[in-house]
Amino acid sequence: MNHNLFATFAERMRERGDADFITTREGRGYTYAEALAASARLAGALTALGVQQGDRIAVQVDKSPEAILLYLACLRIGGVYLPLNTGYTGDEIRYFLSDAEPALFVCRPASLEEARGLAAETGCPAVATLGTAADGSLMEQAAQATPREAIVELGERDLAAILYTSGTTGRSKGAMLTHRNLGSNAETLRQAWHFTPEDRLIHALPIFHTHGLFVACNVTLMTGSSMLFLPKFDADVIFEELPRGSVLMGVPTFYTRLVADDRLTPEVTAHIRLFVSGSAPLTAETHREFEQKTGHAILERYGMTETNMNISNPYDGERRAGTVGMPLPGVEYRITDRETHESVPAGEIGMLEIRGPNVFIGYWRMPEKTREELLDDGFFITGDLAMVDERGYVHIVGRDKDLVISGGYNVYPKEVEQLIDELEGVHESAVIGLPHPDFGEGVTAVVVRRPGATLDEAGVLAHLDGRLAKYKQPKRVFFVDTLPRNTMGKVQKNELRKQFQDTYR
Ligand code: ATP
Ligand code: MG
Repeated sequence: MNHNLFATFAERMRERGDADFITTREGRGYTYAEALAASARLAGALTALGVQQGDRIAVQVDKSPEAILLYLACLRIGGVYLPLNTGYTGDEIRYFLSDAEPALFVCRPASLEEARGLAAETGCPAVATLGTAADGSLMEQAAQATPREAIVELGERDLAAILYTSGTTGRSKGAMLTHRNLGSNAETLRQAWHFTPEDRLIHALPIFHTHGLFVACNVTLMTGSSMLFLPKFDADVIFEELPRGSVLMGVPTFYTRLVADDRLTPEVTAHIRLFVSGSAPLTAETHREFEQKTGHAILERYGMTETNMNISNPYDGERRAGTVGMPLPGVEYRITDRETHESVPAGEIGMLEIRGPNVFIGYWRMPEKTREELLDDGFFITGDLAMVDERGYVHIVGRDKDLVISGGYNVYPKEVEQLIDELEGVHESAVIGLPHPDFGEGVTAVVVRRPGATLDEAGVLAHLDGRLAKYKQPKRVFFVDTLPRNTMGKVQKNELRKQFQDTYR
């Protein structure tokens, strides 16, 4: 049996024939039959450019249907797809190219000069371009290439992709994902979220991250459903398109923006059967407000670059605000003590560990780190703290690295943030630990006020006094205009810790 994920996709693509696969607002797009043929031409172009089975293809391009066809072409020839954040600068790209040693670097047409320089410096033998209007040297080459129809025979442990983590807690790590990792998760999600060929996904996420690339596109391909490809999240466009879609996948900031908009009504969302949220915590407040305004309970799920999706609220059954739900079929988890690694009793907070066919096989060229985080019994230490409630719903409490230890006591930032967020004048908050001469770390709150609010430090502290044990109360409260976030909407606490590092020194 050929374990190449593309072999599975190709079967579905042939069945779906003239049905839409990807469309854009401008009316461009591909049916399944067209996508199948185009991916064979692109596979021919990749071969002509010297890419061979097992080679990495680094890709830093703007979002377009052709970028997904390139991903498919790469799978088809047994290459390893390596997408890069479009926000990375030349210096960052230099690191990724020297780390991954790709056989080809596909860049934006406007970046060709710089890309050639970086490729020469890092020993990458070939460069091609891909634009957003089916333009660029790669498409030109594909038009002339002999289509490569063959689907390379692969085993299930062969690599399909190296996906770099978001770099929220430090330097991005390259997660090695196999055909089995991606295929098993896509099939699991197709079933768990009841995808059918009639679905039309509104796709407004970036495609260099696990959410927009694997969750959204692999599920679509597994199902044979269709996607509307939008360059980015734009509320005006989303409101126009909601009546023509059936599923929206978003990061929490999508939902906070929709909730703040008067156009959010039961009518405008009536055609959507499923709203999914992930990549960062969705507040219980946003979940409830969204449900109040639309009648839809957002389905929150939990996953990461290294594992695809692990835990999801149920499709049928209660979707509990502030929780990520139950393990997906085939996925096991345990919650362990941070020091002893023994499982903790239900209801207690500990480190979340995950095992399943979805879990990656290691970090690219980081054997030490792989050994630390991927245990001999197959469990992966996620770095997230979690607890399971009496009904079996998992709550993500925060990242282990964001845990504050003050005077020897653990302070979970989320608990403090939730109380601060209750305050009338607060838009959002982040609680961090900063070096402190007496306590080791001093609990510190960074708050964004609502427009017009006059709340001050004393007001925040007065609200927490009596509601929180003394050791959990912030020693200082700072106000900022916005919290630093990366493209996936994740708050970068590293940045905040840097900004306020000298507070207690
Ligand atoms: P890095 O590992 O480089 O520091 P990162 O962990 O942000 O970056 P990703 O793999 O993109 O990189 O993100 C996975 C993380 O996102 C999870 O470990 C978790 O902390 C967070 N996350 C994802 N979904 C949720 C969710 N529903 N609720 C809370 N956190 C979530
Ligand atoms: Mg991570």
